[in-house]
Amino acid sequence: MSKVKNKYSIERRYITNAIARPQVKNLGVEFIVAHETANNQADANAHYNYFNTITFSASAHTFIDDTTILEIIPLDEKAWHVRYDTPIDNRLYGDDANDVAIGTELCRTGSFNQAYDRYIWYHAYLCKTFRLNPMRHIVAHSTLDPSRRSDPESWLEPNGVSWEQFINDVKRYYDDWDTEFDNDVYIVKSGDTLWSIAEDNDMTVDELKALNNLNDHLIYPGDQLVLNPFSTGKPKANLKVDGYLGPNTIKALQRYFGTPVDGYFSKPSLVIKAMQEWLGTPVDGYISEPRSLMVEALQRRFGTPVDGFISKPSLVIKELQRRLNRGEL
Ligand SMILES: [Zn+2]
Repeated sequence: MSKVKNKYSIERRYITNAIARPQVKNLGVEFIVAHETANNQADANAHYNYFNTITFSASAHTFIDDTTILEIIPLDEKAWHVRYDTPIDNRLYGDDANDVAIGTELCRTGSFNQAYDRYIWYHAYLCKTFRLNPMRHIVAHSTLDPSRRSDPESWLEPNGVSWEQFINDVKRYYDDWDTEFDNDVYIVKSGDTLWSIAEDNDMTVDELKALNNLNDHLIYPGDQLVLNPFSTGKPKANLKVDGYLGPNTIKALQRYFGTPVDGYFSKPSLVIKAMQEWLGTPVDGYISEPRSLMVEALQRRFGTPVDGFISKPSLVIKELQRRLNRGEL
């Protein structure tokens, strides 16, 4: 079974032309600028050759065609893909795109569908890698430089894809990143145990049992087990609704947000950051004490009393557990 995240491989072959690639580190990755090349003849490799020889400052990190995802500039270096004097990147994201954004380019050659699927997959990959939100952190070049640019819509729209559709397609890969791809039934092989199957598929034994209405651990070779609990695109947990924020609830949260699953909040915590981003509160990875803006926002969203504090047991955690069990926060 292929997993979403293993669907494509990324080729990293970096240009050495110092004009297009000065080898200056960027200031981190805060967002992604989606481009298209506007060149009907050149594939990803042709763009590699082109940017390796040009004598003016232009480039992008990654070129994607119908067979290849090619990074020509390391993702921790600057590339010159948006003009510095456009104010919109600063207004939207607080910085210049060249300093804090990855530039991606969709090539026009070959099969559009093949290239487009790689293009959306790669944006999901970048969002996962740099902890970005596909709904907020991908911007069209045309949005940043509207008087001069119309990409990537200039190639998406003639092929029947709106910007909204593009973002939704990225989101679909993003949500399914850690799940099985297009195959949600597992045929039990000899030697398999519920534990080994659950472990291989990033589930708990209880989740596997709940999905398959199994009351005991007896399975036989040839049995078919349902593995895909993602009817909402999110895993359904099987938590006791007790109002305590224990390791199982934290694990379910980590699964839901696609962060590493270890059952505790490190300081700072990736899953807390993901929740803060989701709730629109300051993102620092900490539940501040005694009164947390993030907890307040969660209480407001869930309609429980708002005091910014997680009591033990806590009404807002009970509601969180109920919602995690439904797979929908
Ligand atoms: Zn562009």
